[in-house]
Amino acid sequence: MTAGKLKERLIRRIEAQGPMTVAEYMTACLADPQDGYYKTREPFGTKGDFITAPEVSQMFGELIGAFCLTAYERLGSPSSFRLVEIGPGRGTLMADLLRAASLRPEFLKAADLWLVETSPRLRQIQKQTLKSSGLTPSFADRIEDVPEGPTLLVANEFFDALPIHQFIKAPEGWLERLVGTGPDGTLQFGAGTARLDKAGLPPHLQNAEPGTILETQPASNAIAETIAARLVRQGGTALLIDYGYLKSAHGDTLQALRDHRYDDVLSHPGEADLTAHVNFEALASAALKGGAKVFPPLTQGEFLLRLGLLQRAGALGAGKPHKAQEEIRDAVERLAAPQQMGELFKVLAISGSSGSLVPFDD
Ligand code: SAH
Repeated sequence: MTAGKLKERLIRRIEAQGPMTVAEYMTACLADPQDGYYKTREPFGTKGDFITAPEVSQMFGELIGAFCLTAYERLGSPSSFRLVEIGPGRGTLMADLLRAASLRPEFLKAADLWLVETSPRLRQIQKQTLKSSGLTPSFADRIEDVPEGPTLLVANEFFDALPIHQFIKAPEGWLERLVGTGPDGTLQFGAGTARLDKAGLPPHLQNAEPGTILETQPASNAIAETIAARLVRQGGTALLIDYGYLKSAHGDTLQALRDHRYDDVLSHPGEADLTAHVNFEALASAALKGGAKVFPPLTQGEFLLRLGLLQRAGALGAGKPHKAQEEIRDAVERLAAPQQMGELFKVLAISGSSGSLVPFDD
């Protein structure tokens, strides 16, 4: 088999310029203008490499729609606000959210819809999906480009696609892990000379065994801080949903998924989806730095059950044939059961103001 085009270009680039950081490698694999994963592949749905929660069932987006209605009231039901989604994929979550929120026509009337999406191909699909929603989306490349104003924001499986850095514990300290080439000319991990400042690490990570890997996510943290600062300035709430861990920990979480199977992360650059687990502790501290109120995260299972997943499933299945009811039951399991998406996925809510926020505890 011949190596992919992107792989060959990366090997040539490393030979000319030296090894690259894991963050640079992730960026090249996902966002390369010619051969990046999001530019060339259809990642979502049953034909894609993975299925996200909104693609599992309409109930996911509908319950987030119900959440948005309460968050809108908490904001004082303004006559105009920005409804923002970052990384909307096929636009399914937003379409389901808007259908559920149409229970309150003033919500739809007040909503100025913004989708933050870098892929021109996905923007077209999102426009199409939202055709019957009654709202026309505006697009932005970055959250900073969305005009100011009170904001309700959602992001599902967005942060896991942002570049991370990895560091590996060596006797002389934490060295940045790099992607270089091996003696046989293929891609291979190695260690560079850049070091992570040990003083910034939580005590339980400072004395790790040699060979331990630690990840940092400066790109994700910067976006969380930007969102938080915006909510503090303009009012509003953000719901950040992703898979990841609640407490900073060590370990290598970089993974490649290709045709619904785990793949070696260096084998098929641009042809596999590359993600890393999100460190919610770091995301929450970044939001606190932005001055926002951060609610203790819930697991996706808790979040959906508290919002009435079982009741919604019952209503959706009522009067339907047995097979349709079974599919709904399967979807509930997939979204909320601990051994499926229920526990690995976390939901972080951040808000520009204090005060309670259903279904989160203070
Ligand atoms: N939220 C969707 C899709 C998640 S995949 C779902 O749940 O189904 C990640 C999405 O983020 C894709 O739409 C991808 O094109 C977009 N994306 C990736 N990097 C981005 C960036 N830096 N800025 C904006 N969007 C980005």
